[in-house]
Amino acid sequence: MRRRTLLKLAALSTIGVPSTQAAATPNSSLSIRNSESITMNDVIIIGGSFAGLAAALQLGRARRKVIVFDTGLQRNRFAGRSHGVLGHDDKPPSDILAEARQQLARYPAIKMVNARADSISGTIDNFSVLTGDGETVSARRVVLSYGVVDQMPDVRGFAENWGTSVIPCPYCDGFEVADQHWGLVWSGPQSINQVRLFHDWTDRLTVFGNGHDIAADTRADLAARHAPLVDGRITEIVRHGSHGATIKLDTGAEGAVDILFAHPRNKPSASLHDALGLATVNTPTGIALKTDERRETSMPGIYAAGDLANPGIPSVTTAIWQGASAGIFAQQSMLT
Ligand SMILES: Cc1cc2nc3c(=O)[nH]c(=O)nc-3n(C[C@H](O)[C@H](O)[C@H](O)COP(=O)(O)OP(=O)(O)OC[C@H]3O[C@@H](n4cnc5c(N)ncnc54)[C@H](O)[C@@H]3O)c2cc1C
Repeated sequence: MRRRTLLKLAALSTIGVPSTQAAATPNSSLSIRNSESITMNDVIIIGGSFAGLAAALQLGRARRKVIVFDTGLQRNRFAGRSHGVLGHDDKPPSDILAEARQQLARYPAIKMVNARADSISGTIDNFSVLTGDGETVSARRVVLSYGVVDQMPDVRGFAENWGTSVIPCPYCDGFEVADQHWGLVWSGPQSINQVRLFHDWTDRLTVFGNGHDIAADTRADLAARHAPLVDGRITEIVRHGSHGATIKLDTGAEGAVDILFAHPRNKPSASLHDALGLATVNTPTGIALKTDERRETSMPGIYAAGDLANPGIPSVTTAIWQGASAGIFAQQSMLT
């Protein structure tokens, strides 16, 4: 019975992995650690990108029975290449994930399913997750790693150029455009921190006020930093070259930069945490799930990792670190 179940789980571990790789997975010398009923998983992970797969890796290595649900829409899918991830610098993000999934396929206790999780019910030691396919799966713990969605403003050319001419993060893509002429879309008082940050990459910065009421002392600060401020609301962004942008304003003026940085608001990719009433914290660009130092949310047995629970610096590296931590703490919480 146990061996048959192992083979079935390994055969199902196929998200994004060619069937030949999945078929190479089963190793009858490996066994699954959990001692619960065979239908009860140890952990359900919702969101199988950087954070979720990092959680699965730790749990799978501890031979805990894990199901990962994923819909394959990771946040940086608009970017051609991902930067700043040790060992994976300057690679397409989808390649990094494909390699991770391939490596996870060798763990018989990890099952990866290409499906959306629609709801969560139950309490610690007996959670149930209902998927969009109508399947109900149970587990003792849940890790939420379903990320966030950036909310594209209603500006022509913004969404179309997101990830190429319009980007959010200098650590992700700044090196490639260092010393060029940067633009920044002002999104609130916190934007002055970006202006200060950008000095490490360029001395040529133009700030687009985009209809914000910017205080006189902030204007003086920008002037002292030789960062011209252009007032007016942005109506259109037109890409030129590989990443340059022309910014058109409702005043009739326009400006051209080599790259434009912007920080649109974001929201969690799913509302499962809402239905559970999990505690959140406010950030300048959205909300993040509140977790303790063991990555447990306000509901015992539910953990959160990655951009969904990262009010600090969202990145692939922090998502992997938080996911690995959530996996380890979830596993340790089940020790007898
Ligand atoms: C344009 C752009 C460029 C970036 N470039 C870089 C870079 O170069 N370097 C870097 O370190 N960071 C970069 N980032 C940040 C990086 O993308 C995120 O920090 C990282 O993707 C967060 O990982 P995550 O696992 O928390 O969430 P995500 O990668 O967003 O993954 C969440 C996963 O959950 C799935 N999901 C959502 N809802 C459900 C559901 N209900 N059921 C099942 N699955 C669900 C989604 O489909 C997705 O696969 C960039 C971001 C953007 C927007």
